[in-house]
This record gives sequence, structure tokens and C-alpha cells, in this order.
Amino acid sequence: MAQSRPAVAIVGGGIGGLFAANALTAHGITVSVYEQAPAIGEIGAGIFLTPNSVRHLHRIGLQGAVEKWGARVGRDSHYFRHDGARIAPVQVTDASGWNATFGMHRADLVDMLAAALPPRTVHAGHRCSGFAQDGNTARVTFSNGASAEADIVIAADGIHSELRPYVFPPSRPVFHGSVAYRGLVPHERLPDWPTDRWQMWLGTGRHFLTFPVRAGKLINYVGFVPTDEQMKESWSAPGDPDTLRREFAGWDPRIEQVLAEVQQTFRWALYDREPLPGWTKGRLGLLGDAAHPMLPHLGQGANQSIEDGMALAIILGRADRSTAPLALLAYERLRRERVAEVQRGARQRHALRFSLFGSWRERRRDHRARRIPQAALQLRCGAGSGSRGGGALTTPDPHPALSEKPPSTTIC
Ligand code: FAD
Repeated sequence: MAQSRPAVAIVGGGIGGLFAANALTAHGITVSVYEQAPAIGEIGAGIFLTPNSVRHLHRIGLQGAVEKWGARVGRDSHYFRHDGARIAPVQVTDASGWNATFGMHRADLVDMLAAALPPRTVHAGHRCSGFAQDGNTARVTFSNGASAEADIVIAADGIHSELRPYVFPPSRPVFHGSVAYRGLVPHERLPDWPTDRWQMWLGTGRHFLTFPVRAGKLINYVGFVPTDEQMKESWSAPGDPDTLRREFAGWDPRIEQVLAEVQQTFRWALYDREPLPGWTKGRLGLLGDAAHPMLPHLGQGANQSIEDGMALAIILGRADRSTAPLALLAYERLRRERVAEVQRGARQRHALRFSLFGSWRERRRDHRARRIPQAALQLRCGAGSGSRGGGALTTPDPHPALSEKPPSTTIC
């Protein structure tokens, strides 16, 4: 048992930072979270949670909240061609057959993570603007004039991370020539729309996705379309609903039915970065998009940030103040290759969906799509892969403070 547990400061109160704060707290570590926004909150869009992260939400005691605020999707989840013909079912279980795939409103997820933390853990209105460290401590400074000291600082400040350059020289974002239109439609406007399934339509250079969130009260849609316009990395801007409708005109009438109800939509430019060769420097470590921004085609950015947080907490929970930097290195070693594999997988999926056209290519894409669910599941769960931080790595026993028994004890 560690004699003197390290104190941790987390910069960034998004999904990754807030989950890590919960996991560290559950492992008996004192944490402070510093968020630049005046209040914790999120944009109005959905996020898809897969078993590899849901099991960790259970471990920190949020099983009930996930069931309450999420919308579980089931066996009727499918891939379709653009015209509505079925291609293949979507695998919604992990390798053990456990179905824990949920659509969630991002705001609901962030709110439930923030609410689960001890009072005064989160300090809003703190934009980190500097970092320094020596052999004994690390210090972050904020643009409001405040500063904070900790044994370990975790940069969970997203794709534009202010702290990443303190770990590794700045890298260039890679634009992938596509944008995602995202938004939510109240289910009451689509009363016949099923609330128990994830559905994706694949067409030439475009694809369209829907899944339910907030216990089925809202339907989340995402329309991926090609573009030459280079927007700022991960920048979201209001989009034109009529342009979105034109992009998918002539597709399955079910898509037109959803789009007819869209009154507001936002556009995201799709960027990622090359996997980093290192995530830590001394007392500073990266987590979530700050460490591994990825394309959304495996729906794993947030799920991987949750895996990061649990791995970090388990490893730091066994360290003391003097061994904490070594523990940070162990965290990096456990996570980096596993996540790089997911980053590369998301790129491959992008290339598959955006580069194929014409009938024989459509058939080849359909054939591959039939194989995707298992391959994607392995990236999502490490199921049976036995590689690099996936299914082969067994976590130590959960901390006694964790009340929920996890359905599986693998980090995946
Ligand atoms: P962020 O969510 O970006 O949070 C970073 C936080 O840090 C923010 O609150 C920010 O305000 C704060 N911050 C930034 N700079 C500072 C600073 N200097 N000081 C203090 N605070 C700061 N992932 C999935 O798992 N499933 C999906 O279905 C999915 N769908 C997606 C669809 C699209 C179209 C896109 C673009 C992404 C999708 N993702 C999905 C990816 C997911 O959104 C991200 O991977 C995830 O939000 C990353 O979480 P994070 O906490 O690392 O970063």
C-alpha cells in the first residue's frame, strides 16, 4: 500500500478529464479538475458508448445513471445501403455476449460524471496557460492569475491541447476531406422511429447514422459528407439543414423522414493526428483527445479516453509521490500502442467508406462491412485479440472503494 498518495491536477473537464477524476477518486487519490469554460457543460450532440467503456462506468458506480440517461441499442441494429437494402447486422455485444452499447447525450454524460465527484473537485473558469515541473512537483498556471501544484498533472484538454507541446513537439493535424453534420431530433416528431437500434446507411462517399439518446427521447443523427473546404480542426459551426437534406436526397425515405424534421444542425471538420511516440514527460501525462485525436468512424474517441482514465487510476493507485512519474510511464506503456491501433483502425474505416464508388466497389464495400462488426468489436473490446493493452491485459482487482462488480476484469 502506498505511504503517501500522489495528488493529481487534471486540466480539462470534458468526458476524459471527468471520468479520470472519478476513477482516481475511487482509488483514493485526491484530484482537482481545471476547466476553461465558466461552467461544466457540453454541446448538443450524441455519443455512442461501447462495452469497453461502459464496464468502467459501472466500476465507478454509474451503472444506474447510464441505464437512466442512456438508450441501450440491441440486435436490430443494422448497416444498410443508401437505398435501404440491408447489408449486415451490427454487433452490439462484447465477446462474452454482454450488451452494453448505449447512445447518450454528451451533456448527460458530462453532467453525470461531474455530479459523481466530491464537492469542490472541479474549478471552472480556469484556462490553463502554462506548465512547469522539477524533481519534486508540477505547477500549472491559469490565465485568471491562479496557479496549482500537484505531484502529477494530466492534460485532458482535448484535440487543441495547450499542454501537449510540453510533452512532444507540436504536430500537424491531418484533414480527411469530410465533414460531419450532427444534431438531435425529438422523438415526439418521429413517433414511429425505433428507439432500440443503431442504424447506418452507406452510399457513395457519404454515410448517415442514427441512434437514440436520453432514454429514447431524442434521436441523434450524423451525416458524413465529403468537402474541399478546410475548416479549423475539430471546429463546429452551424450548418444549413437544406444543404444537409440535399446531400442525402434520393436515399432511403427513412433518412428523408429524419431530415425533414431537422431545424438546426452543426458541422464538424474531420481531422486526426499521427499517433504520438510518447504521452508523458516527468510529472505530466496526456489523456483522451490530447493524447490521441482520432476520426470518429469507430466511435471510440471518448470510449478510449474512459479506458485511459481507468488504466491511469489503477496504476497511480499503487504509486506513492516519489514513484508517480514511473507510474505515469507505465500508464503510457499500457495504453499507447492499443490506442494507436484504434486510431489507425478509424483511418482505415474512413478510407473504406469514402474512397469506394461504383457498383462493384459498392459490392466489395458491402462484403467488407459484413466483416466489420467483429473487427470493430476487437478494436473496441480487444476481444480475443490478446494484443497490446487489449483483451490480454488483466487489470488488478478493483479498489475496495468501488462498489460495482465489473462484468469483466479486462481493460478493453
Ligand atoms: P474534450 O471533449 O475535447 O474535452 C476537453 C476539455 O478541456 C473541454 O471541456 C475544454 O473546454 C477543456 N479545455 C481545453 N483547453 C483548456 C485549457 N487550456 N485549460 C482548461 N481547460 C481546457 N467518441 C466516442 O467515443 N463515441 C462516439 O460516438 C463519438 N462520436 C463522434 C462524432 C464526431 C462527429 C466527432 C467529431 C467526435 C466523436 N467522438 C466520439 C469523439 C469524442 O467526441 C472525443 O474523443 C471526446 O470528446 C474526447 O474527450 P476529451 O475529454 O479528451 O476532450
